[in-house]
Amino acid sequence: MSTDTPTIGVLALQGDVREHLIALAAAGAVARPIRRPEELAEVDALVIPGGESTTMSKLAVVFGLLEPLRARVRAGMPVYGTCAGMIMLADKILDGRDDQESVGGIDMTVRRNAFGRQNESFEAAVEMQGIAGDPVDGVFIRAPWVESVGAAVEVLAVHEGHTVAVRQGNVLATSFHPELTGDHRVHELFVSMVRAG
Ligand code: GLN
Repeated sequence: MSTDTPTIGVLALQGDVREHLIALAAAGAVARPIRRPEELAEVDALVIPGGESTTMSKLAVVFGLLEPLRARVRAGMPVYGTCAGMIMLADKILDGRDDQESVGGIDMTVRRNAFGRQNESFEAAVEMQGIAGDPVDGVFIRAPWVESVGAAVEVLAVHEGHTVAVRQGNVLATSFHPELTGDHRVHELFVSMVRAG
């Protein structure tokens, strides 16, 4: 759907939901938390926040959201995932829990806690394709990296040799958390994808 003010949900099972709601509103969207399949059906697009992907995965099953999420992503709904959200959007997860489910949507293999093993949490300037001006302030918290991508995936940012931002069609993912910085350019990029979609 293309409207000037799209309605974008934030998956609100666990994680930094509030920060994304604020960033999306600042980027020109109507933002609302999503916990039930009926709520998911009403939004134009979705953000999957940072948090803990194993918990999010478990709660998505409990709340009956996993299959509706997969169906909407397959149908082309724009989605943006940060950190745990990136893991949820990976077709394949390394170092996950055995029973961990992902929504999928990006043909990539993501390694959970990959940066976390080296450095629990850090900030770094990240040059990101599609973001004009200064580099983005990348906040990494027990962050995953992308180990490999399929041919349809665009790599948008690399930090120290590791892929940390990708896009496949309408699905965007970053290892880092722009919602924690007050810089809304990545959310603006996502809102413009939703408007164009
Ligand atoms: N390590 C977390 C996970 O596996 C992600 C951390 C984050 O979202 N900041 O889900």
